[in-house]
Amino acid sequence: MAVLVIADHDNASLKDSTHKTVTAALALSSDVDILVAGSGAKAVAEAAGKIAGVRKVLLAESDALGQGLAEAVTAVVVPLMSGYDAVLTPATSQGKNFSPRIAAKLDVAQISEIVEVVDASTFVRPIYAGNALETVQSSDAKKVITVRATAFKAAGEGGSASVESTGAGDGAPKTKFVDQQLVKSARPELAGAKIVVSGGRAMGSAEEFQRVIDPLADKLGAAIGASRAAVDAGYAPNDYQVGQTGKVVAPELYVAIGISGAIQHLAGMKDSKIIVAINKDADAPIFQVADFGLVSDYKTAVPELMDALAAA
Ligand code: FAD
Repeated sequence: MAVLVIADHDNASLKDSTHKTVTAALALSSDVDILVAGSGAKAVAEAAGKIAGVRKVLLAESDALGQGLAEAVTAVVVPLMSGYDAVLTPATSQGKNFSPRIAAKLDVAQISEIVEVVDASTFVRPIYAGNALETVQSSDAKKVITVRATAFKAAGEGGSASVESTGAGDGAPKTKFVDQQLVKSARPELAGAKIVVSGGRAMGSAEEFQRVIDPLADKLGAAIGASRAAVDAGYAPNDYQVGQTGKVVAPELYVAIGISGAIQHLAGMKDSKIIVAINKDADAPIFQVADFGLVSDYKTAVPELMDALAAA
């Protein structure tokens, strides 16, 4: 069985979610290749070749691929699939954009957000906002799979796979790239951060959110997250949202401040290694998943925490 992993990258660097997707791919087969579709992405392809267990790296380059247009990625992958039995990609916004197109072109069902590989055709995936795990078996000849990267350990380094150029397809003739606006931040990226500090509706305003959450995140070197209530109220930007309709994170440490722990929020963070919750309501559901829970007003608890960190 030959498996293709579509790399997650920004043309300059390879994202850790690729390493995690390689781990999922290696559970399917030892014949794993990586496709880097981009523009000026040779360094990314070389980095992909260093992932342990990878057989070879295919590099496809064009402007449309560099812009991440889903139609262009699909046009590269579909012809390649004559040589592969499965294609895996991290379940990022990008992956969720092109993966269904690839599945449709191959006339197979997409298998979404797997968290475990049982065997070559059987996979486990969360449903109902992560409240149940479903085991699905696919009889399709070609498997098109998105991977919840947080559920897999990153494959290590140490590989020496060769990089080969491959066709860039015919681009995206019906789609025109207009513009993209990227948020620039010195903080770690939320989806891959080792520590996340999140604030909820309790913050009450954008100013209070920044006053309380930002310094703690800076002190811990953490990414910032938020509940949907905090995002909807305008206390935090959209891309901070953690949960069913936001980002799924599984950091070493997740600190939830003034967040009740609704199931839709838990769906995005309950796999964190250590969960710390600060909430003044002892019955808040967040305490059911917290490893360390502090029943306290955040206005007292957070300054005390900052003092303790400063003294440490
Ligand atoms: P609340 O539920 O209002 O909780 C605020 C908490 O702060 C309370 O527990 C309160 O005790 C505590 N608090 C108040 N004051 C203080 C204080 N001074 N000190 C300490 N604690 C205090 N939500 C998400 O987060 N992410 C999602 O992706 C998401 N997707 C959704 C999708 C759907 C289809 C639906 C229907 C809902 C979704 N939600 C999502 C919304 C979710 O149901 C909750 O409404 C939301 O998570 C609540 O946010 P919160 O915990 O900040 O607010």
